[in-house]
Amino acid sequence: MVRISKRMSLVAESPTLATSTKVKAMKAKGADIISLTVGEPDFETPKNIRDAAIQAIQENKVNHYTPSAGILPLRQAIIDYHQETDGVQYELNQVMVSDGAKNALYTLFQVILNPEDEVIIPSPYWVSYTEQVKLAGGKNILIDGVPENNFKISLEMLEKHRTNKTVAIILNSPNNPTGAVYTEEELREIGNWAVEHNILIISDEIYYRLCYHQQEAVSIASLSEEIKNQSIIINGVSKSYAMTGWRIGYAMGNQEVIGKMIQLASHSTSNPASVSQYAALAALTGNQNFVNEMREEFEKRLDYFFPLIESIPGFQATKPQGAFYIFVNAKEAATMTGYSTVSDFALGLLEEGHVAVVGGDGFGFPDYVRISYTLNKENLTEAIKRIKQFIQLKSNRN
Ligand code: PMP
Ligand code: GLU
Repeated sequence: MVRISKRMSLVAESPTLATSTKVKAMKAKGADIISLTVGEPDFETPKNIRDAAIQAIQENKVNHYTPSAGILPLRQAIIDYHQETDGVQYELNQVMVSDGAKNALYTLFQVILNPEDEVIIPSPYWVSYTEQVKLAGGKNILIDGVPENNFKISLEMLEKHRTNKTVAIILNSPNNPTGAVYTEEELREIGNWAVEHNILIISDEIYYRLCYHQQEAVSIASLSEEIKNQSIIINGVSKSYAMTGWRIGYAMGNQEVIGKMIQLASHSTSNPASVSQYAALAALTGNQNFVNEMREEFEKRLDYFFPLIESIPGFQATKPQGAFYIFVNAKEAATMTGYSTVSDFALGLLEEGHVAVVGGDGFGFPDYVRISYTLNKENLTEAIKRIKQFIQLKSNRN
């Protein structure tokens, strides 16, 4: 009998990755499935980035360990990039490169949390936050948003959940799964509240280049020096440059926290893959046209796809302002089709309707499904057709 730690009984596999892996396996066996599951751009990593990686290999730059914090030119490029885009200034010892933003968050929770420490998480939330907090021994304090306010939480809601054990709050704007974007004013209010109560702001800004309809995402660190000093910013190249497979993210903020994170990484990952670091360097320092072209394409798809989603019987959604997800209340659709839960409905839709979406359970809202519109127009159109057919067929049978 093998022995598994109690710690692992606290967490399940990431539902976003598990669903997309399941779909890949079904497709490999010949199934014709349209996958609206995983959140990654369907674009290829731009050529200048791929070329830089090849060149770094040819020049023998990538054969050895790098510093655990990442190569110096990349850390400098991250600083320069945020100075230019957000007007914020960080020092080198305030930046750490990680194996994707996910690993930056994991390392951060390990560094800041003690048993019973509370982390406020606006819900719905990205699936890995709660699991990473639990793995670090912390306690999740979830605050449910409402669709009428785009699921965004207010100061009053925060104040209600603050205790003397609150150590951090996670903000994620633009948001996965809702696509909501906090305004500068809303962020400032939350930022000042966190400063006043000495609560660490963990601002996951991984989607901040993906905002639509003249909406501009703001980095919370740019709002004041006090807020910046109270925040750890999480970002990376995965979403903005279509580089999810390269696994490069980073954390920026308080030098003591970052220093401890680097210390931990020296025992866990050693360093993010060196070739990927050279690719990320090219992404941040090269031509930025791609970022905007991809953003424009997602905006077009959103405008095309959202009304179609709304036209599906039993689906209710709020129009997103950023990222590439639509969070849909599918309770009525599940009831109409004879399923007692939305998660069973999603399974039925996959197995019989051949469209894959992610159930809302892992995001804290079981009556919802998350739909990624990271597919071309033809596939999005076909997905809508299949979902409608599935609902109609099942409704007739009931
Ligand atoms: N934060 C959010 C909100 C995400 O959706 C993701 C998705 N991957 C991540 C962090 C992690 O990104 P990465 O691929 O850089 O690990
Ligand atoms: N963040 C993406 C998603 O939510 C990628 C998968 C994951 O890391 O969860 O689908």
